[in-house]
Amino acid sequence: MDLNSDMEKILWTEQQISERVTELGSEITRHFKPETASPVIVGVATGAFLFLADLVRKIHLPVTVDFIRVESYGSGTVSNGQPRISFDLKIDVRGKHVILVEDIVDTGNTLYCLIDYMKSKGASSVSVCTLLDKPARRKVHFELVGEGKYYCGFECPDEFVVGYGLDFAELYRNLPYVGVLKPEVYK
Ligand code: 5GP
Ligand code: MG
Ligand code: MG
Repeated sequence: MDLNSDMEKILWTEQQISERVTELGSEITRHFKPETASPVIVGVATGAFLFLADLVRKIHLPVTVDFIRVESYGSGTVSNGQPRISFDLKIDVRGKHVILVEDIVDTGNTLYCLIDYMKSKGASSVSVCTLLDKPARRKVHFELVGEGKYYCGFECPDEFVVGYGLDFAELYRNLPYVGVLKPEVYK
């Protein structure tokens, strides 16, 4: 099995992702001045692990980092409904500015659930920083909390993508780019 030869096409190269991540880090650095409390960067496991690792090195402010896990997808490419938190935060986010870091926003179910959860934990603002956004598939409208902002790397076409953290059946996360698999790979 060769990861690269399973790809039908590449949508964003390693270089394009790197440049965009640097821009997102600068935006976040500008919005969260050093005099405001250090934001809590919450990565949504597992998909956001590479994006988060690269992003935090482009944020030139003190930040804390934590992870949360939400289960909503099985091993296929179709959501199996209501997301639930299966691995919880370690950091107390009460009174903190939370930045949720996601690989991709699809139906919006996961973010709706997580924003609600951060609100219930008393976060003073909730922002979202997602590498990709697939607006064509949105089903649930979510609202940010307080002064929360929405940061997005790239708008994604309505296709199932893998790489740079995103998986198909837990594979392909370690590709340094984002692309679409050949149809025969799903069989
Ligand atoms: P939502 O709850 O917004 O429908 O879905 C969010 C999660 O679904 C993402 O964090 C991701 O794990 C998964 N997902 C949605 N679209 C894709 C896609 O095109 N590729 C992959 N690998 N995962 C996706
Ligand atoms: Mg995700
Ligand atoms: Mg997945």
